[in-house]
Amino acid sequence: VFQQQGVNNISSDSVEKPIDKLIGGLLIDGFDERSCLSRYQSANYHKGLSAKPSSYLISRLRKYEALHKQCGPYTEAYNKTVKELRSGQFSKSSPCKYVVWISFSGLGNRILTLASAFLYALLTDRVLLVDPGVDMVDLFCEPFPEVSWFLPPDFPLKSQFHGFNQKSEQCYGKMLKNNSVASSTLPPSFLYLHLVHDYDDEDKLFFCDEQQNFLKKVPWLLIKTDNYFTPSLFLMPSFEQELKYLFPNKETIFHFLGRYLLHPTNNVWGLVVRYYESYLANANERVGIQIRVFDTDPGPFQHVLDQILACTLKENLLPDVNREDDIVSPSETPKSKAVLMTSLNAGYFEKVRDMYWEYPTVTGEVVGIYQPSHEGHQQSEKQIHNQKAWAEMYLLSLSDVLVTSSWSTFGYVAQGLGGLKPWILYKPENRTAPNPPCRRAMSMEPCFHAPPFYDCRAKRGIDTGELVPHVRHCEDMSWGLKLV
Ligand code: GDP
Repeated sequence: VFQQQGVNNISSDSVEKPIDKLIGGLLIDGFDERSCLSRYQSANYHKGLSAKPSSYLISRLRKYEALHKQCGPYTEAYNKTVKELRSGQFSKSSPCKYVVWISFSGLGNRILTLASAFLYALLTDRVLLVDPGVDMVDLFCEPFPEVSWFLPPDFPLKSQFHGFNQKSEQCYGKMLKNNSVASSTLPPSFLYLHLVHDYDDEDKLFFCDEQQNFLKKVPWLLIKTDNYFTPSLFLMPSFEQELKYLFPNKETIFHFLGRYLLHPTNNVWGLVVRYYESYLANANERVGIQIRVFDTDPGPFQHVLDQILACTLKENLLPDVNREDDIVSPSETPKSKAVLMTSLNAGYFEKVRDMYWEYPTVTGEVVGIYQPSHEGHQQSEKQIHNQKAWAEMYLLSLSDVLVTSSWSTFGYVAQGLGGLKPWILYKPENRTAPNPPCRRAMSMEPCFHAPPFYDCRAKRGIDTGELVPHVRHCEDMSWGLKLV
């Protein structure tokens, strides 16, 4: 994996593969390397992409970058459109339209929604601007050349972001509910789109072509969401053709967009690299185990520990131990596994680590267990807390095999960036480990937890997980949708 230093069994006659620092053409050369080391160094740590991006995707990214350069913060076009936003009147001729992503929810959710919002921007020829919130600038580098993706602090509507909700006057769902938009209505200069998990039927009409036709005319769309809504874009006839060209392989949307957009800042990258080099780089195999327990009681719980062990043993991800006989089998150089565990709690890690210290493995392999942090509880507004969370998602993505917890966007980010189909630990019911304890995911894509179940044309409810073979219900959440 770490080809540059050749730590992984590169024999003298094998040809070292050149490192693809531009990640299959997703990235362009020419950024200042030192201001964002991860951008060109990540290829040294990740495996290559799990598939080749289409040449159409690459050309669309270049086209997007040109648009961003033309329309991004403080460009002439931006200044003009902001002026029009202030005055509430706009000229149809403006070349630039925007999607403003409002910083909202836990970090895993935010990463998924950034990718979804960017895809929506690509599909609708809009420019994506990112509300920096409290910590986005500390976590992510600039992905586009020359012009920032961060929304400037003097953006006129900024003070309203926090208060936007379904009841806001400018909420599109609310306007639809009040019948205050007709196709003849003069489009407003901006609209708020509420795509948060608690959204209602009118908000969900965002996923209908008819409403998209109206939204096309609105220069500023402000989106608040905590969901990876990409799967539902794949069910809209108006985007179908374009998506087919962009992503002939439907499983790679977040994988590609994540690797294109999300580059850890230097301080986060330091956390990733120091940890990787210290504990993971030299092992023959890296196993990531992401533990997320959605229980009001912090745990640790015996049933969760039982489930982790049952899954990793049954699926042959980790070797069993010999509790009867503690004679160390004399193998030449034993194979090593490094297990990266992440959890808010240290309890699971301590138990698993002690087990592999106290007993030999039946295979003679040596197993090291590592956990970077145990932060106790979610503290989404604290800076170093989120830097660690981002570093840990990234470290998990560098695994060779991955085990994740149901329902967790933290795990989805790791699997998507890593191009890994994880084994998913099923959600325990009544504090009992489920049987089977885990199952392999169908695809590496994240799950959309709150999709609409509506047929826009027939105007009635429908099971959107049954319409096309590539949009299915998720393994870990029966009502969710994912791309396969
Ligand atoms: P989700 O709630 O699992 O979908 O993931 P999110 O990332 O959206 O929100 C959970 C938040 O809790 C993370 O952003 C972290 O702040 C924190 N968190 C949860 N699990 C871990 C973990 O294993 N390590 C660290 N450092 N933080 C975690």
